[in-house]
Amino acid sequence: MEMLRLEEVSKRRRNPLGQEVDILRGVSLSLAAGHLQVIIGPSGSGKSTLIRMVNRLDEPCSGRILLGGVNISDLDPLILRGRVAMVLQKPYMFEGTVLDNLQRGFAFRGLPLPGADDPRIASVMELCRLPIDFLPRAARTLSLGQQQRVSLARALATGPELLLLDEPTSSLDRPTGDRLGETLRDICRMGRLTILMVTHDLRLAGRVADRLAFLEDGRILEQGSAEDLLNRPASAELRRFLDTPNEGVE
Ligand code: ADP
Ligand code: MG
Repeated sequence: MEMLRLEEVSKRRRNPLGQEVDILRGVSLSLAAGHLQVIIGPSGSGKSTLIRMVNRLDEPCSGRILLGGVNISDLDPLILRGRVAMVLQKPYMFEGTVLDNLQRGFAFRGLPLPGADDPRIASVMELCRLPIDFLPRAARTLSLGQQQRVSLARALATGPELLLLDEPTSSLDRPTGDRLGETLRDICRMGRLTILMVTHDLRLAGRVADRLAFLEDGRILEQGSAEDLLNRPASAELRRFLDTPNEGVE
């Protein structure tokens, strides 16, 4: 089943000099339910803009984005964001405990708050490899890696269909990033969740992606299996990016 489909999505913006600039140019992508799609590309290639459009933090100038066959521009953004959760690059912890943070999505939607003994809480804590005795701890006292896991657990607690991740490991050291990568793979497999992640971290991409797309200057130049793209890049642009991936580090 196709979960997400982008059809010829384009975005044009005015730069500070008042000139019109193409940020995304005719991006098309199909993501099957239960798959983990990674989009790689250098800094400024349009990755964040692309992912933000999928939960309507940004709107395309032309083209369509379909979620389960329905054009997302026909969906109420709040309903859409219940189905499509986003985890940001830098984890944001609300004041209070880890449990308070996990309850946040429910509070937003006016839903009854699950308690510490709620199976949904236990399940996301386990999925995100967080010990259950973290629940009463003050979220802001946790390490960055732990906060990133809490932010993931918070996004998953309300049961989204699609998870969007923008550079989820960029503020983490390598071992912590690797562990998060493994967690994302597990979540995709066990939680039968669909994941769309953008990153310039090739190591992470190689470890977790089912499918990979390479975005440069607002265009998808190549897409296919992660194995194919990383080992047999067809374009000079991707070869160059693979040779000097650190160019993309922000
Ligand atoms: P990436 O995430 O791949 O680094 P972005 O999507 O953040 O790329 O940015 C792509 C291009 O769009 C960049 O040239 C950036 O300067 C520009 N851009 C991003 N957001 C805005 C904005 N709100 N207004 C104007 N230009 C923007
Ligand atoms: Mg970005």
